[in-house]
Amino acid sequence: MSTADFTPAIPSSTDPTSVDPRLPRTGRRMDRSRHVVHIGDVPFGAEPFVVIAGPCAVESAEMISHAAECVGKLGANVLRGGAFKPRTSPYSFQGLGMPGIELLQKASRTHGLPFVTEVLSESDVEQMAECVDAFQIGARNMQNFALLEAVGRTGRPVVLKRNFGATPTEWLLAAEHVARAGSDQIILCERGIRSFGDETRFTLDLAGAMWAQDESRLPVIVDPSHAIGLPRLLKRAAAATLAAGLDGLMVEVHPEPSEARCDADQALTPELFDELMAHLKRFTVERPLLAP
Ligand code: PEP
Ligand code: MN
Repeated sequence: MSTADFTPAIPSSTDPTSVDPRLPRTGRRMDRSRHVVHIGDVPFGAEPFVVIAGPCAVESAEMISHAAECVGKLGANVLRGGAFKPRTSPYSFQGLGMPGIELLQKASRTHGLPFVTEVLSESDVEQMAECVDAFQIGARNMQNFALLEAVGRTGRPVVLKRNFGATPTEWLLAAEHVARAGSDQIILCERGIRSFGDETRFTLDLAGAMWAQDESRLPVIVDPSHAIGLPRLLKRAAAATLAAGLDGLMVEVHPEPSEARCDADQALTPELFDELMAHLKRFTVERPLLAP
């Protein structure tokens, strides 16, 4: 699809209903209308709370198919998995590359879940655009403007992670780069920022996510797996995300976390993911207050 096909959906830079002149395409509007973004047929930013789940990386055909089946059965709406992995060390597993995307696509179609996967390089964008349901732009590339624009030009949905050193405003401005290039199909994803202490992997900034949701008209989701890194805390973080009025979650789930080639310590087992989903359901009904 060409950029021109998307232009009418995006307000012009002089749209008088945009409240923040720095965010003419993605910022809050005076009427507070929100933008619903679809990955496959799954809506983000509409009333229902949406869950993306799956392993950090695609490791083999069997593993991703098994993971897709598990998360789908346990209530996830969208499958995640990386084929291009941004690893801190060049000696760590870097992902299966394009063959991994094919495995992900097959698992996704077999088990009926659309999928999102990270794009690391501008040179892969065109080829990936033909088969992915949504691109993920990882935290490390949040201000890789050439990549943001290349992905925006495809018009495909984008999950835009917040960099761990970026302010919420910088994050929203990164989204504006994608929108200006041609796609308003952007989901913002908070995944933890650097502060002090290493008790949790990063610091989950729920307030920053709420602020971003308030200032923009884009859906905002939370990835507590990377933000916290400790499986035992994820179900409470997930419930907090739901209670905060945010639009959804991204969590890492691996059929055998101890064998994961990437982020093994933080992945939920299918059993823990099942518990997380059951815990979330408790918060979808109103919580009674303690009697005075
Ligand atoms: C991931 O989702 O596996 C990932 C690498 O995330 P982030 O970019 O948030 O570190
Ligand atoms: Mn990961």
